[in-house]
Amino acid sequence: MTADNSVLRARDLARHYSVSRGLFKPSANVQALNGVSFDLQAGKTLAVVGESGCGKSTLARALTLIEEPSAGSLQIAGQEVAGANQAQRKQLRRDVQMVFQNPYASLNPRQKIGDQLAEPLLINTPLSRAERRERVQAMMQQVGLRPEHYQRYPHMFSGGQRQRIALARAMMLQPKVLVADEPTSALDVSIQAQVLNLFMDLQEEFDTGYVFISHNLAVVRHVADEVLVMYLGRPVEMGASELIYSRPLHPYTQALLSATPSIRPAPNKPKIKIAGELPNPLAPPSGCAFHQRCPHASPRCSAERPELRLLDARQVACHHAETING
Ligand code: ADP
Ligand code: MG
Repeated sequence: MTADNSVLRARDLARHYSVSRGLFKPSANVQALNGVSFDLQAGKTLAVVGESGCGKSTLARALTLIEEPSAGSLQIAGQEVAGANQAQRKQLRRDVQMVFQNPYASLNPRQKIGDQLAEPLLINTPLSRAERRERVQAMMQQVGLRPEHYQRYPHMFSGGQRQRIALARAMMLQPKVLVADEPTSALDVSIQAQVLNLFMDLQEEFDTGYVFISHNLAVVRHVADEVLVMYLGRPVEMGASELIYSRPLHPYTQALLSATPSIRPAPNKPKIKIAGELPNPLAPPSGCAFHQRCPHASPRCSAERPELRLLDARQVACHHAETING
């Protein structure tokens, strides 16, 4: 692993939102994302997991330049995003593409599918009309669509087909990075695996780095090289997929895994339930944000926030990681 091959490099990324609490009250600050750092290599997948509200989509928007981070550094294919000039920004926007949970959101309902797929080529390449059409037909075939689909409109497709189209569109310019935010969560279970396989096929073909976001650890198990587990905007555990799945060290990761239906817990391990709800992000708990729901919490956990540290070949943010996993 050399830094040279990194297609995405995040250091201490943060994103805070100011939210209004009413006419005469001062606005509050939501720390939607805090202290996220990782390197993503070409052809590899970083899975980002955690409950709804933990900051996954906020991270996705920062990585795809939809929103500026409040702090931290982001490099795409070696280019620092902050301080990039207009021409560089245009290139960066080509290099990073996104697939959303609801493909309808990224497709124009009034434009034929073929034309939508050709559009990135029209804007960004000198290809002729005939060449664009040829490229689009090739990509359509690659994602399992038939040539006659070229003339159809988004509403004429099923959810799974629409997600194939959204993926095809994202891949038209062969981006270095694809950020997929819950791309299969809205699909029928029977379709999810097919679409996941398609993601993997295209990654192999184009050597794209993926940031694959899901609240479901079972979904990302088969696609992830690395896993980043988030809680209330902060990373709590990150490392190689095999390690995280076989020996999670953070109590939150353990609880998430234990709650994942398709992964059978070992018979001698009791099922861990996460008590309660995600805390109010406007009033985050002191110390470790997970302490109120953690079965292992001690007074230290409510007083002092644990930093990410290296333990057993991965990063984990827990004061008691050694003792509880002893
Ligand atoms: P996830 O995708 O993991 O469900 P999000 O990134 O959507 O989480 O949200 C993380 C936190 O940031 C939530 O508390 C959410 O309410 C808050 N948040 C997200 N976007 C905004 C925004 N534009 N303004 C204010 N708060 C926001
Ligand atoms: Mg989200």
